[in-house]
Amino acid sequence: MSQKKWILGNWKMNGRVERNAALLAQFASLPLTDKVVAGIAAPMPYVASAATALAQSAFLAGAQDVSQYAEDGAFTGEVSAAMLKDVGADFVLIGHSERRQYFKEDNAVLRTKFENALQAGVTPVLCVGEPLEDRLAERQNAVVADQLNVLNHLPVDLLGDELVVAYEPVWAIGTGQVASLAQIADMHEFIYAQILSKLEKAVKIRILYGGSVNADNARDIFCVGKVGGALVGGASLSYESFAHILKVAQES
Ligand code: PEP
Repeated sequence: MSQKKWILGNWKMNGRVERNAALLAQFASLPLTDKVVAGIAAPMPYVASAATALAQSAFLAGAQDVSQYAEDGAFTGEVSAAMLKDVGADFVLIGHSERRQYFKEDNAVLRTKFENALQAGVTPVLCVGEPLEDRLAERQNAVVADQLNVLNHLPVDLLGDELVVAYEPVWAIGTGQVASLAQIADMHEFIYAQILSKLEKAVKIRILYGGSVNADNARDIFCVGKVGGALVGGASLSYESFAHILKVAQES
């Protein structure tokens, strides 16, 4: 039997109160089977209202980032993992390539964020993926291996049953240039083996693919071994596209 797929939408810096409410109401009314876990990572001001709108549905609510600081205090502009938990967030993206690129987030910062999320009971989704120049120079495995060092020696007592990572080649994000099925298969195998060698506790390893996933290419991607779902950017802003991806995931 095929494994359950996780399909998470990343709205990035898009949305307004009314538009969000309409879209979330449509998502919340989708009849999802137990073959899929769906979620939306909303921009920070909308995480609480998204959690409320999705509370009676099978959808999870998430955030796109979290502070590296765990304790309340003088950190103007920051939002802690405990605050995300408090407003009903179920998951949070950690280290999306746009955070790495524009905000220079490095492994040390990402490790702190990852651990803060675990500590608060918000599922962290670590995003990894190589820029184009590294793919062209065939350095993708070295780059991703380094990014996965965020997961070294995770405190066993904090880990739940599942560890979630999203493989998002930077050159495939928002470009319409999806990675080939062979590239996805190879990298997912590589990531799986890397994580397995780090874990000091037996937990399920879930690896999502992200990068220009849409209604047309989702079915093929979900057939690739070790693909445990998708992180979907642009297509999660359209009811038709995201609903179609969810439908395909449930059939895969
Ligand atoms: C993303 O934002 O994580 C992403 C994968 O975007 P897109 O699906 O638009 O490529």
